[in-house]
Amino acid sequence: MSEKEIPYKIYLREDEIPKTWYNVRADMKNKPAPLIHPGTHKPLSAEEMEPIFCRELCEQELDNDTRFIPIPEEIQDFYKMYRPSPVVRAYCLEKKLDTPAHIYYKFEGNNTSGSHKLNSAIAQAYYAKKQGLKGVTTETGAGQWGTALSMACAYFGLDCKVFMVKVSYEQKPFRREVMRTYGASVTPSPSETTEVGRKILEEFPGTTGSLGCAISEAVEVATHTEGYRYVLGSVLNQVLLHQSVIGVEAKTALDDYGVVPDIIIGCAGGGSNLGGLISPFMGEKLRGEKDYEIIAVEPASCPSFTRGKFTYDFCDTGHVTPLAKMYTLGSEFIPSANHAGGLRFHGMSPVLSQLYDEGYMKAVTAEQTDVFKAATEFARVEGILPAPESSHAIKAAIDEALKCKETGESKNILFGLTGTGYFDMVAYQKFNDGQMEDHIPTDSELEAGFKNIPDTSDVQF
Ligand SMILES: *Cc1c(COP(=O)(O)O)cnc(C)c1O
Repeated sequence: MSEKEIPYKIYLREDEIPKTWYNVRADMKNKPAPLIHPGTHKPLSAEEMEPIFCRELCEQELDNDTRFIPIPEEIQDFYKMYRPSPVVRAYCLEKKLDTPAHIYYKFEGNNTSGSHKLNSAIAQAYYAKKQGLKGVTTETGAGQWGTALSMACAYFGLDCKVFMVKVSYEQKPFRREVMRTYGASVTPSPSETTEVGRKILEEFPGTTGSLGCAISEAVEVATHTEGYRYVLGSVLNQVLLHQSVIGVEAKTALDDYGVVPDIIIGCAGGGSNLGGLISPFMGEKLRGEKDYEIIAVEPASCPSFTRGKFTYDFCDTGHVTPLAKMYTLGSEFIPSANHAGGLRFHGMSPVLSQLYDEGYMKAVTAEQTDVFKAATEFARVEGILPAPESSHAIKAAIDEALKCKETGESKNILFGLTGTGYFDMVAYQKFNDGQMEDHIPTDSELEAGFKNIPDTSDVQF
């Protein structure tokens, strides 16, 4: 098929929106290690998880075998309001770069939350409602997850309590207002409202917070409030499962035009968009049917894959969560005030960690000034103002396209454009004023984070 026949945007029909999620764990020979109890170091059973997470989500968390999980009709109906999301052929960027590569991106920013996070938020809110809960608690860093969850909770009539990382609460007042408009309560974290928040404030006075702190607070409130559970917007297996809708749609759209990506790129915070985007492609790779080059892009300031350790660690700073086996910088690692707030988590999805450890994908880092250069270049030709998180993927896609220019290869590059950057104008302003700096942690700074990783040498996985 000649390239002229590929439209700028490939939209699926409404009836082509996936009706099942694809569970990539079913095709993994070596399953991701289970969550373990921090005291006993034994795998967490569904019963032990249920005081924290919604019942059906615990089942999804533990299900390593069911390949396709039906998407309940209520969730399919909500998906229809903002899905399918388009696969866009970046003709204008290709031209600007003068590259023989073909660049495609799957754009998840066309909903009010401004990111892919709504795909999982609506699922998690649905299961909470179905269980008869009153509400949910969560943390939010940059604010996209909190926004998505507040939208989903409003839709199902659930209460939503959001702990927002303090620096972001102060930098992005309008994000907070969107959440409140959807009926959520928003508390800057660390706060005086929880025991763990007070403890963290005592230990680190003046801290601007981190995702790890906010998670501790949200879990404490969920486990101490009748009728509430905690929900998380990334990292967990269940979240990657919900996000598989991105990859299944993208693959269907590209298949319709006979396009096979050579390289698939996504930014990686906790791994949910990347895990979702690559899932059907990774499935083929795991089954030995096809091969793809898969690249995770993380900030140089928070390099979990590229400089972290693959081991059991806490998911939060206050150590109230189970332990997950993942690439981690240590739960007490607090990254410098990087502007890609959604990529500042110290750990990484256990599914992606396992796949990365086995060499099924690779990872690169990007420094924030380079990321904003790429974002600006992209915005000026493709029209969309990208989120700083997403722009990590743009940066890597441009790098790959420029490599093709050197070699003359016409590779197909697919990347995830996870969201828009309207609430990130403080960061864009810094960049435009030439005041943005890059922070790369030194080895000794990383060592300080590794020091507090718990000893799990007795664990057999
Ligand atoms: C949260 C977020 C990310 C990073 O989270 P993952 O779980 O790694 O996908 C990336 N892009 C945007 C726009 C986000 O909101």
